[in-house]
Amino acid sequence: MTEIFTGNFTQQEPIPQEGIDAAMAVLQSGRLHRYNVAEGELGEVSLLEQEFAAQLGVNYCLAVASGGYAMGAALRAMEVGPGDKVLTNAFTLAPVPGAIASVGAVPVFVGVTEELVIDLEDLAAKADQADVLMLSHMRGHLCDMDALMEICVANKIRVIEDCAHTMGASWRGKASGLWGDMACYSTQTYKHANSGEGGLLVSDDPELMARATILSGSYMLYERHGAVPPAEVFEKIKYTTPNVSGRMDHLRAAILRPQLRALPEQAERWNARYKVVEKGLRETPGLTVVERPDEEYFVGSSIQFLLLDWTADKVNDVLDRCKARGVELKWFGGREPVAFTSRYDSWRYAPSEPMKRTDRVLDGIIDMRIPLTFSEEDCALIARIIKAEVSAVFQAG
Ligand SMILES: *Cc1c(COP(=O)(O)O)cnc(C)c1O
Repeated sequence: MTEIFTGNFTQQEPIPQEGIDAAMAVLQSGRLHRYNVAEGELGEVSLLEQEFAAQLGVNYCLAVASGGYAMGAALRAMEVGPGDKVLTNAFTLAPVPGAIASVGAVPVFVGVTEELVIDLEDLAAKADQADVLMLSHMRGHLCDMDALMEICVANKIRVIEDCAHTMGASWRGKASGLWGDMACYSTQTYKHANSGEGGLLVSDDPELMARATILSGSYMLYERHGAVPPAEVFEKIKYTTPNVSGRMDHLRAAILRPQLRALPEQAERWNARYKVVEKGLRETPGLTVVERPDEEYFVGSSIQFLLLDWTADKVNDVLDRCKARGVELKWFGGREPVAFTSRYDSWRYAPSEPMKRTDRVLDGIIDMRIPLTFSEEDCALIARIIKAEVSAVFQAG
């Protein structure tokens, strides 16, 4: 009997009841705008910012409209402008080079290793080309953060972490997002907390965060925030920082607060599913499992494996066969950008030189979401299907 999987790869869990109740209260109040608060009330957005800052162990937090907005604001706060170069990952998603392009800057792509992290040798080789790195922890893979920071400190490169896939993750016990100068999170539906759209920007640097706050559209109401630097810091920058609206509202903050509290347990649930898929994929001929280092605590909301040195036809064959059995895989090697998946040479507004080692890895990366609505039995079935189809295509030679 041929097993078929019938689950939905884009179906997330419902918003926790506590979040729904809080959202209803916001709707009842009619006060949805973040600066529309009652006397003495801090409001859901500021509470969210305070709670996320405390949870992460960082001084300041700003909630914004999206993860991409947070990245653009971080770059602008660092005064990255037209024509400036910004180092970033060749293996990432389109909003990352997009955020760089949004400030008129030019991405300089750094390669990816077989471990699916930024190639530190390539980073060191390109370190003289820019003084900012937008580091995308793509698909939740953390590089050796100590080694990366050593290169960046030595070359006076400021680091913005893109933690869209590492909310809840850490390297050697230190949270992702605490390593660089600023860090950006997304609370879009497919990330680790779901408010439809949304983003969080964090930093310990008062001046960067004061700028980001004004940029986000605070007018001169920044004193109504709960997790920003003191007013005197704003005095220095308030006349020279433009207002580029991208605020979060109370409704989204209300549904996020209980989700962020639940993040550690959710991470464990994701990891239990990830481990089932990973175990099921081991010892598949032609398939390389991406081993995770001991220093890394990750959140397994998606899994990647490699079909290294396979032809495009064979990879497509695997994708088609898995799809016919209900398993949706994404391929980063495709020449044309498809759905959420694209590659550095798809972003033609940012010219790049071909990178041989990176192309070999990208050509082999297969990616799969693991929504929490899947059971561990579902995950075991999915792994059996992938293993069978990869083996069949591989053995056909
Ligand atoms: C989703 C995502 C972003 C941007 O987040 P949005 O909230 O969708 O703007 C940035 N980087 C990566 C790697 C992402 O997956």
